Amino acid sequence: MWRRSLPQPRWLPRLAVMRPHRVVVGCFAVVLLLALVVGLRDVSLVRERDLRARQHNLELRALGVEAVLEGERRRLQYLSTYAERLFEIQASADAVPPDAAIRQAYAQRNAPVWQMKLPLDGPALIGVGPAGLTGLRSFDRRDPDLMVDLYVGRMISELLGLSIRADHVQGNAIFISSNGFFVAYPGIDPAMAVSMMQRFDSMPYYRGQTPEVNPGRELYWVPMYDDFQSKRRMTTLSVPIYAGQQFRGVVAIDVEQKRLDELLRAASDPGTVQYMMNAHGDVLAISDDPVRKVQKWPDAVPGNWKDFAPADLFARGSGMVKHDGDYLLFHRAPQSPWLLMDVVPARELYASMFASMSRPLLMIWVLLPLLLWITLKVVTQLFDHYIALGEKLQEIARQDPLTGLSNRRRMRELAQYEFERQKRDGQPLALVMIDIDFFKKVNDHWGHASGDKVLVELARTMRANLRNVDQPARLGGEEFAVLMPNTSLAEAAQSAERLRRAIAACVVEADPEARVEPADRIIRFTISVGVAEAPAEVADGVPMTLDGLAAIADRRLYDAKTQGRNRVVSDDSAHAATVPQVQA
Ligand code: GH3
Ligand code: MG
Ligand code: MG
Repeated sequence: MWRRSLPQPRWLPRLAVMRPHRVVVGCFAVVLLLALVVGLRDVSLVRERDLRARQHNLELRALGVEAVLEGERRRLQYLSTYAERLFEIQASADAVPPDAAIRQAYAQRNAPVWQMKLPLDGPALIGVGPAGLTGLRSFDRRDPDLMVDLYVGRMISELLGLSIRADHVQGNAIFISSNGFFVAYPGIDPAMAVSMMQRFDSMPYYRGQTPEVNPGRELYWVPMYDDFQSKRRMTTLSVPIYAGQQFRGVVAIDVEQKRLDELLRAASDPGTVQYMMNAHGDVLAISDDPVRKVQKWPDAVPGNWKDFAPADLFARGSGMVKHDGDYLLFHRAPQSPWLLMDVVPARELYASMFASMSRPLLMIWVLLPLLLWITLKVVTQLFDHYIALGEKLQEIARQDPLTGLSNRRRMRELAQYEFERQKRDGQPLALVMIDIDFFKKVNDHWGHASGDKVLVELARTMRANLRNVDQPARLGGEEFAVLMPNTSLAEAAQSAERLRRAIAACVVEADPEARVEPADRIIRFTISVGVAEAPAEVADGVPMTLDGLAAIADRRLYDAKTQGRNRVVSDDSAHAATVPQVQA
């Protein structure tokens, strides 16, 4: 009801003032949504940045590992080239003649184990006799080559020894001659010499370099294995040495797994675990945990990556795969047989996303619902307060303050409403007009205050004698009216007559201020009444209006006055008798 009386806002839809709570909630929802969109964008940016940074870190790491290992590879390649050049020289006219040490070693060549002292203070060159070489596929004693081989072995040993002293990546370095001897750093117990030869004959770093196995003379990385002597896990890089077309031996260096772990660990961010894997799926190194035993892809890596074959990752070289929210970043340095990997569990990614999310945004997310609640509270309070106030004002504006009856304005509204209804349902509608007889005299004799008491008494009597559906009103002064829905002219006239009698029986005590004799304090008064009914008065199908109906009732009231007052008139026969009186 009251919402219809709200002003139409100029720039807003009407709903905005009718339902301010919804407007508030709507506005907050928009802001929250915006904050959410910005936040989600923020989060996805943070995630991308994080993953990019990790990928970048992995690439750098791979480059670092490769740089170190590439150094080893080059050195080995250089040793091999150097040895081959020595073979070339020794085969030419410039050949250096064998010295005493070489001749002495040569003389012992058939002993089960023999040695040749080397110029550096390191271990000696160790050889085995032909008996120790029998049955070995990739060794054979060739006496004509032996002095040249010994010479080259001694020359190479100096460089091998140097590389050890310089404390490079590798733990062990060795030159193995196919002629049945070797120089190893650090040294090996000569008593082990025969078993060492047997071992070389089966190990990939030597056996794998023979022409039958490696005709392309490729540099060869042996996958991780446990060194039988030191029990350490290591991988070996080995290169074959040829004199022309003849395979003469191998230089090899070991890289301990510990060193790979260190290389990985060196630049990893705390909390980031990087892995190194070869194409066979052997996990060679883990930055936060040295690989103790053989660990295979994908079990060694957290997350479920069984659908991703190592060979596929190697083929792709570099990139990122996702599974169950976890990310696997991988990168393979171009020259390396190894792939570096970084596993980012979803949980860790979210944690880092949360940590780097904008604080003000988080505050907004937390504070907005609180602000919404406060604002809603305030709006509701104010709105309810003013609504109640408005309703009260409306009531006051439609009520007569003295009698509490509806006033003329309210009466008009009610009448309009009843007219509409009467049009719909066709029920009769009656209007009764009432005026107090000689009221001026009451005022004159007992005073205005007593007159008011009479008016109040009239209102009370009206209420007491009318039905609930009847609508009494004070139109002004001492004029009253009653709207009677669903009431015919005759019924209305009867009601009016009953009311007239009740009024005539009323006594009102004069106001205490009235300056009259004590015996003269009782006021009696009467009313004149005009009654009209709406449908009865419709002429030629023209609907009755409120003003028309009121005019008729007024005319009959006037008739009642002229006929002597204190009566009810409900027809227009000017001198007709009053309505038959209802017997009490
Ligand atoms: P009649 O209607 O019988 O012809 O005579 P009357 O004396 O009642 O004449 P009229 O209806 O013209 O009188 C109206 C008087 O009602 C005039 C005024 O003094 C008085 N009156 C109007 N309003 C009030 C009011 O609020 N309080 C009091 N006490 N008197 C009022
Ligand atoms: Mg009057
Ligand atoms: Mg009067």
